[in-house]
Amino acid sequence: MVSDAYTIIIYSVQVDRALLESIAQQLRRVFNARVVLAGQLSLGEVLQHFDEEREQIRAEGLLEALKERLGVMPHQRVLVIVEGDGYVEGLNFVFGVAAEGWGGVVFTRRLYPEFYGGMPNESLLRVRLLKEVLHELGHSYGLAHCTNNCVMRFSNSVFDVDSKSAFYCPRCVRELNFLAPGLLRV
Ligand SMILES: [Zn+2]
Ligand SMILES: [Zn+2]
Repeated sequence: MVSDAYTIIIYSVQVDRALLESIAQQLRRVFNARVVLAGQLSLGEVLQHFDEEREQIRAEGLLEALKERLGVMPHQRVLVIVEGDGYVEGLNFVFGVAAEGWGGVVFTRRLYPEFYGGMPNESLLRVRLLKEVLHELGHSYGLAHCTNNCVMRFSNSVFDVDSKSAFYCPRCVRELNFLAPGLLRV
């Protein structure tokens, strides 16, 4: 069986433990993979990529540095969840970035209802984070953006996050089954 072939290693920066555990549990339901909570990265490592003027993290700089430091085996992926706000050149912000064959980084700041003046809502936050995690992991296994109602649809705003499906569409499921055979549990 391939149950131990796929591994997803989760690192975090200042993220609530209960939130991380819930994401890990959801990933175990979706993926036939070993999901490991590997602990916190140092804040200093992330702050090296902090843009003082924009008060945001340079997402691609952080991704490249982490990729260099945390290498993976072919069946491993790294997922880094950062309590912060990231951007890439040309965009006001990003919810996350990914590198095919390695993994991805997801930023939580703009997933909190409070960021938009709303009341705290733990279950909404968890759904949003799970969507962005599945999105970046999808990229890491080779999926591109999708125009269907699909978790691989690009999100330009939190409204886009809320309106898209929390799972891969049938086309992306087929594609993922081809790219990473046996990874999906469904
Ligand atoms: Zn994307
Ligand atoms: Zn799709």
